[in-house]
Amino acid sequence: MVVTPIIGLEIHVHLATRTKMWCGCALEYGAAPNSRTCPVCLGLPGALPVANQLAIELAMRVGLALRCTIRSFTKWDRKSYYYPDLPKNYQISQYDLPLCEAGHLEFPHDGRIAKVRVRRAHLEEDAGKNTHLTGFSGVDLNRAGSPLLEIVTEPDLSSADEAREFAVQLHRLVHYLGVSEANMQLGQMRFEPNINLRIERDGEVYLTPIVEVKNLNSFRSLQGAIEYEVQRQQEVFLETGVTLASGNKSNRGWDDDRLVTVPQREKEEAHDYRYFPEPDLIPYEPDAAWVADVSEHMPELPIPRTERFISEYKVGPKDAPALVDDRATADLLDDAAAAGGDKATLARQFLGFWAMHANARETTIARLGLSPERLAGLANLVRDGTVSATAAARISEAMLTRSEPAGVLAEEMGLVQVSDAGAVETWVAEALRNNPDAVRDALDNPKKLQRARGFLTGQVMKISGGQADPKVAGDLIERKLAELRPA
Ligand SMILES: [Zn+2]
Repeated sequence: MVVTPIIGLEIHVHLATRTKMWCGCALEYGAAPNSRTCPVCLGLPGALPVANQLAIELAMRVGLALRCTIRSFTKWDRKSYYYPDLPKNYQISQYDLPLCEAGHLEFPHDGRIAKVRVRRAHLEEDAGKNTHLTGFSGVDLNRAGSPLLEIVTEPDLSSADEAREFAVQLHRLVHYLGVSEANMQLGQMRFEPNINLRIERDGEVYLTPIVEVKNLNSFRSLQGAIEYEVQRQQEVFLETGVTLASGNKSNRGWDDDRLVTVPQREKEEAHDYRYFPEPDLIPYEPDAAWVADVSEHMPELPIPRTERFISEYKVGPKDAPALVDDRATADLLDDAAAAGGDKATLARQFLGFWAMHANARETTIARLGLSPERLAGLANLVRDGTVSATAAARISEAMLTRSEPAGVLAEEMGLVQVSDAGAVETWVAEALRNNPDAVRDALDNPKKLQRARGFLTGQVMKISGGQADPKVAGDLIERKLAELRPA
């Protein structure tokens, strides 16, 4: 029996506009309930929507990055629901003529390039929020009418791992494009995977019923829900033999505590929504020159940037995403290199102590307040052998609170590397004297020589307060050990 999961994703992204999709109400999280509302988003009779131009541009940026075709003629449609948090009783969305269609995203996964086709990306509006209190329910319409981008992929994913990687890449992409904060805890980006299995047994092919898991708001729950469904659907198929027939799609939710999917209401067929063209809005035809302009001003996207960093900054494929992940930090790295900083050294320092300082302050490297020139200065002190890598870490600490260039701090802190043989010799002699075990090991067993050299060099660095040139010290240690070895 060969089981192949077939997975597609629907992704909802909250767009980072200042105001809502169809009215001028501010988009604010955490404001007093119903304080950001007006006749339009309250759905009062006679109130007319006006499209938010920036929301359309943001949606277009995502579409362009996903290599979609931007439709020259698109329209708005009503999708009917009846829910307390949807006062109009319909959502304005796009049905048959979405703004963006037929794109794809390629990304490295598992040693190959995975390609996921994007069926469409369209604009719509979010609903409000129901809050269930003791004895009654409240409705907050601050979120009603927020611009949402819905992205729908083809079912091109075949594992939970791959789906997670796609989601990570898409999350990084929307962040890069300045399209969304995409804070998943706030629900600004949500995933809904469609999952079923292709089962090949005794020369026959079976498809299991499709399950859509609703509203996943973390990469972990996306992966967990898919893994669980793959297992569950296989078990159900083996027990019952039920396969995909028209109408047996179902919705399930994810229980984050028990790590299982649970049944939800059955999925409505498309006609239940009674889609029809929105009579309050005219069809929309994006100006070709404007689309071309947006297209020309796209930033370098994260996946090509990752590849460039791997080759230019000499970092491994595992480390590169950490440098690319935050766009401002990646820009700062490029700026520091443009300011003359040694690329490989800069990358090592970004991955090393700069990342550590940023983490300790719960921020990003870009927000540490360091100029590209100062970063380049510190990197070049190491490249030129003026200070050791260890000393650079100490200087970096001082740079966070002081404004002098790295070179001045190095002098002042007495960290300028000493390669003068006399001084290094004194430190080496002390290191050998203090560590007779390491010396004996190296003499008894030549195979341990390199380890002893490393250890003793570390000791010299400690004794010298990071001032010794480690290369000079290491060479000297090896020479001294050779002298001590009985002939
Ligand atoms: Zn409003």
